[in-house]
Amino acid sequence: MFCSFKFTKKLFILMCACFLIALAAGGFGIHKAVTAVQADHELEQGIQLPIIMYHGILKDTKRQGNYVISPDLLESDMKYLKENGYTPVFMQDVIDYVKNGVPLPEKPIILSFDDGYYNNYAYAFPLAKQYEMKLVIAPIIAKTEEYSQANEENANYGHITWDNMKEMVDSGYVEIQNHTYHLHTNNQQQVGIKKKKGESESDYQARITQDVQMAQSKITEHIGRTPTTFVYPFGAFSKTSETYIRSMGFQATFGCESRTNVLTQNPECLYGLGRYLRTNEMDSAAFFESILT
Ligand SMILES: [Zn+2]
Repeated sequence: MFCSFKFTKKLFILMCACFLIALAAGGFGIHKAVTAVQADHELEQGIQLPIIMYHGILKDTKRQGNYVISPDLLESDMKYLKENGYTPVFMQDVIDYVKNGVPLPEKPIILSFDDGYYNNYAYAFPLAKQYEMKLVIAPIIAKTEEYSQANEENANYGHITWDNMKEMVDSGYVEIQNHTYHLHTNNQQQVGIKKKKGESESDYQARITQDVQMAQSKITEHIGRTPTTFVYPFGAFSKTSETYIRSMGFQATFGCESRTNVLTQNPECLYGLGRYLRTNEMDSAAFFESILT
């Protein structure tokens, strides 16, 4: 009886253990299967990456419009993204995902700021730290040099200085990308890095290579990091622009077409990325609901 009891108890414990192991293995198996299905789905469908394009951030309502929004609206955008589970990432995170399979957070998004206005440092940077959100800033380097030399900091018309840029990058919340040294012009003679009328192909290549490389080396010299992404001024380009930009080593390019990007494991998906211009027209919910699916 005692023996039989002992045997039964042992058997019972053994059965329980087997049951738990089977349950754990089964659960793990299901989890593994779900993860594998998700990974397959991602590979087939790709990951959606919306990129938002901001410019200036100013309190003066008279200045707000297509290229300037208020600090309050930017804060409201950040709150909306946080509440809805979006995580702003750097281009380096995106490149690491596409080229090396390093996972991205769920619902990745890029908050990009063009031209490098001083008000980005004054208003967007403190909000980035407060809401723990990464920003991608593409400054016009000729302007950065001008304001660094003058040692002038003005939110209304100034641009970020090298010191501002270094402080933001060192914080871990800001990544700097290339928006040309001196080619951010939009007039009859020149539109961004577009080929000029009558310009020979070799003159064109030399002209844009010289300018964009100058921006690359200045940023590398002052910040200690080399931009990976070229941001087309005004989204303007010619037939051969992308070839020359790629030959300089850029791993990605931003345009101005309003669309959500799809990231796959093919590095080609990093070129000509679409972006949504953030104007002051809509509140955060209306804006993001109009572009995020
Ligand atoms: Zn610009």
